[in-house]
Amino acid sequence: MLSKFDYMKPKTLQEAFVLMGENPGIRLLAGGTDLMIVLRRNMELIEHLMDIKEIPETKRFEYNQGEGLYIGASITVNEIAELEVVGEKYQALKQAADSLASYQLRNRATLVGNICNASPGADLASPLLIFDAIVHIAGPNGKREVAIGEFFTGVKKTVLEPNEIVLGVSLPDVQNGDNSVFLKQARVKGHDLGIAGVSLRKTSDNQICVAMTAVAPTPIRLTQLEKAMSGKALTTELAEWIFEEIRNHIKPISDIRSSAEYRLHVSGVLAKKGLLQLIEMGGQ
Ligand SMILES: Cc1cc2nc3c(=O)[nH]c(=O)nc-3n(C[C@H](O)[C@H](O)[C@H](O)COP(=O)(O)OP(=O)(O)OC[C@H]3O[C@@H](n4cnc5c(N)ncnc54)[C@H](O)[C@@H]3O)c2cc1C
Repeated sequence: MLSKFDYMKPKTLQEAFVLMGENPGIRLLAGGTDLMIVLRRNMELIEHLMDIKEIPETKRFEYNQGEGLYIGASITVNEIAELEVVGEKYQALKQAADSLASYQLRNRATLVGNICNASPGADLASPLLIFDAIVHIAGPNGKREVAIGEFFTGVKKTVLEPNEIVLGVSLPDVQNGDNSVFLKQARVKGHDLGIAGVSLRKTSDNQICVAMTAVAPTPIRLTQLEKAMSGKALTTELAEWIFEEIRNHIKPISDIRSSAEYRLHVSGVLAKKGLLQLIEMGGQ
């Protein structure tokens, strides 16, 4: 049974900060697909909930050539997957969005909720990492921007202060010839977090970017692996190499979803498959 809580839905950012000031410990609610589980299972005592979806700043969702894509905190995963430019320019993000849970759940779930929940297996984190996304944060004393690579600080932990709200996430524009893929392995399609997930990107100037989920305490960008691949052509030999090499750059654990050893193996399989897909997309 759900425990009792106050529900608030401010219509402005200023109102939101007043409510946060008056109700210490208040929790923010977006789609509620993570939070409702916490409430239903009484995993935390939550007395005050603040729904952020009426705050105008969280509803911004636009792509501008030269600037890139901005995704507000109220934008659902389905809205992201269905925006044409996402599929054209940010393929890994589109594929990750399409892979998250089920269609019904994606109608509620938000990308910002996914990263603020900060699960090591958050599917939308690895595409954001390869695209060098910026997290836009507002607090009572002003706004700040944090690179996605610095946003996660531990399992279910982020740089967010208790009285801060993420307004949205922005992804820089990408050039023609920039291709990316997202792949994940999960036990059950649609109802489970991934055993491992990988996003790979080949930029228009032939840099390879790699990020993974569920293989470390936080979603991670594999910068040393990227350095080792720098200047190398995208070939089937490179795909074979990454299959063996990737295990040296991750530290998975064993848990209810998988053993660490299986995660190491499947990470190699996903990375190899991803590189082969990039080659097919015109990666040379
Ligand atoms: C059946 C099921 C299947 C799932 N499958 C997947 C899956 O395949 N892959 C996956 O990655 N996840 C999965 N999830 C988890 C969840 O659906 C996602 O993490 C989702 O994106 C969370 O978004 P939300 O808007 O529902 O977040 P909420 O539940 O509303 O919020 C999540 C957390 O973020 C905080 N928060 C929300 N918005 C803000 C904000 N603007 N500023 C600061 N903090 C904020 C909340 O306080 C809360 O702590 C699944 C969940 C369920 C129930």
